[in-house]
Amino acid sequence: MLYTSTRDKSIKVTASQAIAQGISEEGGLFVPCELPQFSLDKINSMVSMCYIDRAKTVLKEFLTDFTEEELNYCVEGAYAQSKFSSEKIAPTVNVCGNKNILELWHGPTCAFKDMALQLLPYLMTVSAKKTADGKTIVILVATSGDTGKAALEGFKDVDHTKILVFYPVDGVSPMQKLQMTTQDGENVAVCAINGNFDDAQSAVKSIFTNNEIKKQLAEKNMMFSSANSINWGRLVPQIVYYFSTYCDMIDMGKINVGDEINVVVPTGNFGNILAGYYAKQMGLPIKTLVCASNSNNVLTDFLKTGTYDRNREFYTTTSPSMDILISSNLERLLYHMSGEDDKLVADLMSQLSQSGKYTVSDEIIKKIQTAFDAGFTDEESVAETIKTHFEEYNYLCDTHTAVAVKVYDEYVKSTGDDIPSVIDSTASPYKFSKSVLTAVLGGNTPDLDEFDMVAQLNKVTGTDVPKPLASLKDKTVRFNDVCNKEDMSHMVFKLLDL
Ligand SMILES: *Cc1c(COP(=O)(O)O)cnc(C)c1O
Repeated sequence: MLYTSTRDKSIKVTASQAIAQGISEEGGLFVPCELPQFSLDKINSMVSMCYIDRAKTVLKEFLTDFTEEELNYCVEGAYAQSKFSSEKIAPTVNVCGNKNILELWHGPTCAFKDMALQLLPYLMTVSAKKTADGKTIVILVATSGDTGKAALEGFKDVDHTKILVFYPVDGVSPMQKLQMTTQDGENVAVCAINGNFDDAQSAVKSIFTNNEIKKQLAEKNMMFSSANSINWGRLVPQIVYYFSTYCDMIDMGKINVGDEINVVVPTGNFGNILAGYYAKQMGLPIKTLVCASNSNNVLTDFLKTGTYDRNREFYTTTSPSMDILISSNLERLLYHMSGEDDKLVADLMSQLSQSGKYTVSDEIIKKIQTAFDAGFTDEESVAETIKTHFEEYNYLCDTHTAVAVKVYDEYVKSTGDDIPSVIDSTASPYKFSKSVLTAVLGGNTPDLDEFDMVAQLNKVTGTDVPKPLASLKDKTVRFNDVCNKEDMSHMVFKLLDL
């Protein structure tokens, strides 16, 4: 299996090259040249498998230059039972009738990023061994919260890697900050910067491309790489859980093999839902992929009209991981839906960077609409959804999941399409205790610190506090550094001992 670039399809690379490199030289994203096909018999044979075996079955079709031993090592390390709070790794839970929830947050950082970032470090080190002469890989991350912690946890103490995370000093939640500053591991460092997320992100990008810094790294046998969701190695692990939830739906007696399901995804960078599309194209019986957004509804507009326009007000919401106006992975969908028209994709992306806007042809948007539907919701409905689902079904969901649940309810109401459905749940409610508790209490925010908020949510709802969050209380803060954005490259040298 080879991979090509969305902006230049004459490029052909192996899986390990795509993963070690992260992004194609001319700025395009790597996509598989063709997709493996799974028959219903093959899907049926996966029903009796555990998550690790399902993962091996799917991944071996994509990572064809990995040996069986290498793949086993990667998958068994990533999804070891000791790291997940559910035996099923990603369990599917029935809420009521045909409404089911796929819980993707049982990993070490309690957000769905773990599903990919637990595996990526393994894929990256094996790939680097094949393509980069065993260089030490330095992962630089600018984060607005969830990615930083999940990447730290994934890369900690992984041989031949170092990871440095920069976060905006006032731009993350108290829980997210504590998760990062108390991180253990010998190869990790965390630093706050005076500035916002965009400052951190642009500084990281300029360090990535600074030839002087790259040269100094090369002299020490090191190279930079990215743990961002533009890396194919972050997308491919996400295809697995769509097969896994379908198998669990069969196992639960909700469907028979071959029956179609709908899938609803709370969306930001379009990575998670795109993985669902790949699963559909591989033969998994998914009827419609419903893209759920919060007030930052740039994707809803695009999927309804064919015009993508990021020139609009940016809202800070209670589902911050979806507060995004440029969804990078949409580029991959445009490549596939345009009949692999690399010139068109390059042109659309240059329009996006120059004017913040582009429009696709009627033909392309109609084709996209055969697979995708979309909706968005406001803050009030998110809070109401959390409250009613807890009261009526005893199911507590976080703010991001609530966006998807509400959009799903509206979808069923307006289309009448109520076939068995799976809604992705992307974070533990305890990661956003303040918003969730406020919603459950009907709008009154108690005046409590972060840990008392967690304790109160536990008391009011009787749900379990995830261990990794509860144990933060007793951890020591290891990283207090704060620097100006101009000094970030010095910080990189200092943290790397160069
Ligand atoms: C990252 C994230 C999302 C958005 O996922 P994409 O793959 O970027 O669309 C949704 N919810 C949570 C909690 C996240 O951390």
